[in-house]
Amino acid sequence: MRSSGIYMVLCLAVTVGCVPVSKITEEDDIFAEVYLKKFFNLTEEKGPSARRGISPMSKKLSEMQKFFGLRITGTLDADTLEVMKKPRCGVPDEKVARFSTFGNNLKWNKKSLTYRIVNYTPDMPRAQVDDSISRAFQVWARVTQLTFRRLNSGTADIMISFGRRAHGDYYPFDGPGNTLAHAFAPSSGIGGDAHFDDDENFTFQSSRGFVLFLVAAHEFGHSLGLAHSNVPGALMYPLYSYRNPDTFVLPQDDVRGIQSLYGRNREDPMIDEPKPPITPDICDSSLELDAVTTMQGEMFFFKDGYVWHNNSQSNTPQKSLITSFWPGAPTSIDAAYENPMTDRVFFFKGSKVWAFSGNKAVQGYPKSLSEFGLPRFLRKIDAALHDAQTGKTFLFILGGRYYLTYDENRKTVESFSWVSQTFNGMSNKVTAAVQSRGSTFIYSGDYMYMYDLGSGRLLRVLKNTYLLGCNNI
Ligand SMILES: [Zn+2]
Ligand SMILES: [Zn+2]
Repeated sequence: MRSSGIYMVLCLAVTVGCVPVSKITEEDDIFAEVYLKKFFNLTEEKGPSARRGISPMSKKLSEMQKFFGLRITGTLDADTLEVMKKPRCGVPDEKVARFSTFGNNLKWNKKSLTYRIVNYTPDMPRAQVDDSISRAFQVWARVTQLTFRRLNSGTADIMISFGRRAHGDYYPFDGPGNTLAHAFAPSSGIGGDAHFDDDENFTFQSSRGFVLFLVAAHEFGHSLGLAHSNVPGALMYPLYSYRNPDTFVLPQDDVRGIQSLYGRNREDPMIDEPKPPITPDICDSSLELDAVTTMQGEMFFFKDGYVWHNNSQSNTPQKSLITSFWPGAPTSIDAAYENPMTDRVFFFKGSKVWAFSGNKAVQGYPKSLSEFGLPRFLRKIDAALHDAQTGKTFLFILGGRYYLTYDENRKTVESFSWVSQTFNGMSNKVTAAVQSRGSTFIYSGDYMYMYDLGSGRLLRVLKNTYLLGCNNI
């Protein structure tokens, strides 16, 4: 719909207290006329008396009936009036067929968009509004390469506000019921903005009221360039209908619509797979390492899908994919340790453990943690190290704040303690650990704590890149 150069969408109108319709009154005729003007672009002034023959009113009624799959009579009958009084979002659109867009020129020419929540509704706590809005954008981000970043000040591409009645544009809201919200199709200036009628009762997830997440997700469809779809069940269908926001999945019709404008996400939108690893810079000390271990006299450092090792022959750490160094290993790991007595290195990932001898997988692995002799409640190991003096393995667990000692030969747990009880000055969570040349190194975020495990003495606190042989330290 076009008016005075901007593209306006009137959305999600609802009449509160639907009355069963049996007889068409003059009031209904007037209601229908206003409705068709507002939502179906009925322009000519035609009163109820002109409802004979192919009047503009009749033409618009037929159009509306066709859109909603009603019997096309061109007259205001009970069924038609009932749909008019249902929660709906009306956009005049003769070319609606399946998903519909405002046209290919009405879309954003960039993939990174910003939004700003200008004010809040008193209906919900602010955090719930923030969450609803953020998830509503994710509905569209998940199936495209679009990204949405929130601004707290200044002008964003999509300005979001709550208002009632006249609220600063030419489209005043109408009090409780009817129009719930509207949004402007992409273009600079007011384009993209979404306004919510604060005379409605917005909710976080209750069906008593209008779920802000659902209304917002629909409106943002318009903000991105989608018009209405006549497919019942599509998010861009004009009628508001309650759905459980926790289990909401964007219907295929809407996926096709948005992808016709912005293309596909590179990943399958239906599978929430982790993104392919971006190569981390291992010499960046702000990087939190996943795991560190020795193997046959060399040290190995793990982050995401990669492993770095350094040796006396090279000044800079050598990088490989974990799975190319150890075929059959998981693509990333939580913890690792080497037992030099058995010449094995162990990798932990989730509730499983892998064993390798050199770079060959040991038969019978991966095992579950409980098959390995660890308590059933453990979901993951945060860090691990093998103490050469006692022959015990330290496994850091429960967010890296506790550890247990484990006897690999007997497959039993021997003790369970707080980390801070044994490791002086270690008040943060342990993220990685290793023992090398008699010293014990406990990693926590940016730092590495060097201990003498026999006496429990803290020797030094160093940056976590210290053992890597990076040029910058
Ligand atoms: Zn709409
Ligand atoms: Zn507005």
